Amino acid sequence: MHHFHYTADSLQCETVDLSAVAQLYGTPTYVYSAATMADNYQRLVRSLAGLDVQVCYAAKANSSLAVLRHFANLGAGFDLVSGGEIRRALAAGAGVKTSVFAGVGKTESEIKLALENEIFAFHVESEPELARINHVAGKLGVKAPIAIRVNPDVDAHTHAKITTGKSENKFGIPLKHASAAYEACSRFKNVRIRGVQMHIGSQLTTVGPFVEAVEKVAPFVAELQAAHGIEYFSLGGGIGIVYRDALASGAQAWWDAQPAGQCPITPEAYGAALKSLLAPLGLKILLEPGRFLVGNAGALLARVEYLKRGANKNFLVLDAAFNDLVRPAMYESYHEIVPLRRDTTRRALVADIVGPICESGDCFAKDRQVQEVGEGEYMAFLSAGAYGFAMASRYNARTLAAEVMVRGGTFELVNARESFEQMIVNEKVPTFLK
Ligand SMILES: *Cc1c(COP(=O)(O)O)cnc(C)c1O
Repeated sequence: MHHFHYTADSLQCETVDLSAVAQLYGTPTYVYSAATMADNYQRLVRSLAGLDVQVCYAAKANSSLAVLRHFANLGAGFDLVSGGEIRRALAAGAGVKTSVFAGVGKTESEIKLALENEIFAFHVESEPELARINHVAGKLGVKAPIAIRVNPDVDAHTHAKITTGKSENKFGIPLKHASAAYEACSRFKNVRIRGVQMHIGSQLTTVGPFVEAVEKVAPFVAELQAAHGIEYFSLGGGIGIVYRDALASGAQAWWDAQPAGQCPITPEAYGAALKSLLAPLGLKILLEPGRFLVGNAGALLARVEYLKRGANKNFLVLDAAFNDLVRPAMYESYHEIVPLRRDTTRRALVADIVGPICESGDCFAKDRQVQEVGEGEYMAFLSAGAYGFAMASRYNARTLAAEVMVRGGTFELVNARESFEQMIVNEKVPTFLK
């Protein structure tokens, strides 16, 4: 469920007409639906009702201050992966006491920042990291709460760049070495074992791999509970969303296309499959969803600059490019691209939908059928709320897009479009070239 829909052939987010947003703030602009984020959050929490669940929203999917604050208000903590993300959580007025700090390369200053702000736990990826956390905690005179990330070696059946739970990935400690890693903690006087963590990958479209991973790890979790009295089990993130037919209600066509016997992922299916495996553990359950909470809650608005007609191919050139939304170029991913003003009387157009960047890779969609549109009209990329703005760059000296949040019939600019002056503020020509 999301709150992007046509009303009288105008694309709306909740009850805001997106053409009005595009006209007021220009393009490219990201628009987020507060109601969609809240609905996704509540649905996931409800799916595991009866268990002690803490959602730690994976801020890397979208770390805009407005989004972080919205989830904090709903009761979420965060899964944070850098000092910058910790500072973003603090800047959003959220605090990090129910948040976890993850990532394979935590620096001393990042560890210090997390400890000073009373992070709920560090998710540890290696023994050298454990030693470093112990060292920094000792200097501060505190005990650092930790969980070790175990790698269950299951195939998440997702894109190679976003699978993380196979033994060949750089993440976590193999399950067979995990006991030894926990034993090693006793050598570090300034750490305190608090839980155990796993994360198998992103954009999983069936519940099977989650079940397989929990079944594999659960006996070890029970052992840890007996040996170390742990408080929680973190299942990581990875719940996938529907990108195709994102506007169709329930995206039934996409579900119907999934292999028979595989349970397409929904929060309800996820909860139903995992509850009976998790309940006997009697532990707090941490969930770290990123994409699921924000993916379908965001759209990227773009303006049509040119319709370039060719002998064999048409190109629809937009003012958004892969610096704004890199997913199609990086993961060959699909986004629904629709006009803000729908006109069913117009002819269909088959075109490559591209941005202005000087690389062939700046292509959002090949041979896509859309309604015929022309210069000055607006298009929306749907399901662009996760790994969209968060992965944006300034390539081709393009400034970062604006961001707007909608709630009901109101909307506010939550991140002004970057200016050229802001883009170059830290740069200078060296004296020896003057
Ligand atoms: C990326 C990541 C997440 C979030 O993944 P989604 O697919 O966006 O849900 C959660 N936990 C960890 C450890 C991650 O690396």
